[in-house]
Amino acid sequence: MNILVTGAAGFIGSHLVEQLLAMGHSIISLDNLSTGKKAYLDSSLSHENHTFVHGSILDRSLLIDLMDSCDAVIHLAAVLGVKNLVNDPLKVIEGNIDGTRNILEIAYAKRIKVVFASTSEIYGKNEKIPYTEESDRVLGPTSKNRWCYATAKALDEHLCFAYAEKGLPVTIVRYFNAYGPRAQTSDYGMVIPKFIKLALKGQPITVYGDGTQTRSFTYIDDTIQGTILCIDNKWDGEVFNIGRPEEISINELAEKIKQMCQSNSDIVHIPYEEVYGDKYEDTNQRVPDITKSEQLLQFHPSTSINDGLQQTIEWYKNAIDGREQK
Ligand code: UDP
Repeated sequence: MNILVTGAAGFIGSHLVEQLLAMGHSIISLDNLSTGKKAYLDSSLSHENHTFVHGSILDRSLLIDLMDSCDAVIHLAAVLGVKNLVNDPLKVIEGNIDGTRNILEIAYAKRIKVVFASTSEIYGKNEKIPYTEESDRVLGPTSKNRWCYATAKALDEHLCFAYAEKGLPVTIVRYFNAYGPRAQTSDYGMVIPKFIKLALKGQPITVYGDGTQTRSFTYIDDTIQGTILCIDNKWDGEVFNIGRPEEISINELAEKIKQMCQSNSDIVHIPYEEVYGDKYEDTNQRVPDITKSEQLLQFHPSTSINDGLQQTIEWYKNAIDGREQK
């Protein structure tokens, strides 16, 4: 297939492009390099079936051009990261809504398959754990900038549903905290790369809040596997949780990373207000129910947090030894 990947130079995008090329697909990578880095695509740039385009999903005529010869779009490009949500909500809202609308409008005109990357963030503070694809969204007070990303992504999902009703082949994936080798943009959030870097440098590991909040971290290979399964037209109009239901608290994560890095770092707790002021509140617990993805997609995320962290830490050790790109 000829596939356009937006946000291709990001953490998930660059791994996805590598895998799609290995499977024999032809790829156009689009990225505005705001948080992604062209260097993440180094191993794929010279591939004969790969074209990299530096550009924006806000550029409609560029998209019309690029999508002319495509069979599918995997739309990962997004403005994300807690720092962005709290400090620049307008950028987050515009970036996530206007770009996605462009992609969907053009794909609809050409009847091109879209896989849309949504997020487990949209479940918000819903306390009914684990989350199925039908779970309610429970977002906090509207005055908290923190929920602008979840709100924008939820609207994007509704755009997808609306176009699906009109006949657009579109599938939504909701990612649960992907992590793995290769730098994620830790300036914008992303706790695992941040803790690993701090531990390897012997600096204090900064747990926000009391650290009892949990996440279900999902290794990048599993995230990619789930995404690729969704290209199949059998899943048009469907939503899938793409995550691994192994829950870990941020306190446990800090301890584990400290131990695995053989680090002498202290683990310190910092009140949220000191980091984000009063515009943030955390999700206390986040765990996917992946029954639907397992049964329909045959999605079987197999990498445990221990194995995934081991591989991620190895990558960071090498990066810090000389080839860190950030
Ligand atoms: N977190 C933390 N210390 C940090 C960065 C993040 O304790 O230096 C916490 C954060 O408050 C959240 C969890 O780690 O509870 C996951 O944060 P991340 O930004 O990776 O993902 P998200 O909150 O979007 O799930």
